[in-house]
Amino acid sequence: MPFSKQYNDISLMNAHSAKGPVIRKVDAWPVDIGLTDDFVISQGAISVAENVFIRITLDDGTEGYGEMAPFEELTGETRDDGLRQVRKLAEGITGRPVHEYERISAEMKEKEPGQPAPRCGLETAMLDAFCRFRKIPLWSLWCREPRTVLTTDVTIPLLSYDKSMELAGAWYASGFRTLKIKVGIDSDSESRLITDISRRYPDVSFIIDANMAFQPGEAIIFINDLARKGIPVLLFEQPNDRFDLEGMKEIKDSITVPLAADEAVFTREDAERVAAMGAADVINLKIMKSGVLETLEIIRVAVAAGLGLMIGGMVETRLAMGCSLALAQSFPAIRYLDLDTPLLMIEDPVVGGYRYDGSRIIGTNDPGLGMKVRDGMT
Ligand SMILES: [Mg+2]
Repeated sequence: MPFSKQYNDISLMNAHSAKGPVIRKVDAWPVDIGLTDDFVISQGAISVAENVFIRITLDDGTEGYGEMAPFEELTGETRDDGLRQVRKLAEGITGRPVHEYERISAEMKEKEPGQPAPRCGLETAMLDAFCRFRKIPLWSLWCREPRTVLTTDVTIPLLSYDKSMELAGAWYASGFRTLKIKVGIDSDSESRLITDISRRYPDVSFIIDANMAFQPGEAIIFINDLARKGIPVLLFEQPNDRFDLEGMKEIKDSITVPLAADEAVFTREDAERVAAMGAADVINLKIMKSGVLETLEIIRVAVAAGLGLMIGGMVETRLAMGCSLALAQSFPAIRYLDLDTPLLMIEDPVVGGYRYDGSRIIGTNDPGLGMKVRDGMT
């Protein structure tokens, strides 16, 4: 059995659905957070995270926070669109009891099925507010005994060879042993980079992410070449087009490295299709592409189908990532963590909550996400 079948009872969530206060108002505002280096992937580049913070205030004064991090190249959502959607969806939320978050989420999805990031931000803020009101940590909605210390990879975007080697060295020195390397622009130089990093740091493992850039044939050659050289690749992420599941299955059947579906799985139906076709070994979860509650459904589908799980994000601050961490703490089936984007930012716009210690992530037992938005960011 290659992947853990163990998972927690999602129905635990309902055990907490005691009556609570109603949502009095929803605030949403843009935040710009600079990145230490451009975040370049095969589909595009960003140098500033142009996100949206969301605050939900309950009628007893309790506040909850959420974040929307659009990545236009991957989801087609811009921040302006997202902000408009958040404000539109907020109209259907105010005046509702916060403990009805599941129903509210289902209504939001019905209203705007193609807008997962705004829904995700509002869901996170509702869950945070609900948990703060109940004085329980977010993970307690999904499990009784969370994993408290987890390890994340760190991403090296598509930068120059020298810059990538420099970043690999710096991350290695701060304790990271899994590097996620973005590929898909120039296979030969990317292959050389990975090989050279591996020679210099033999105890480093790799996750290789092409963000859909390869044709199946190229993908097979690329990854089998690394495998032949004995380079430890943990996962090969989304090598080809998200709609080409046949091609993905062909790749999976032609390589020894486990294949992870990322862009191919936004919804529960996508996960069911991937599972039915046997098109991947692992699904990469992202609350920003699926919403929080639908991510739970994808976890359920994946675990039932014996698929492995990874969790990542768009270019998110610790706010959105704190929600993903709570999921990772709750579901041991989530084996691969890619919760690194706050480390790629110039500043941390929130205080409290989980923290990083090198590659280790230490969860929080404070109510909700345990975070507050820093003064000046509201
Ligand atoms: Mg990916």
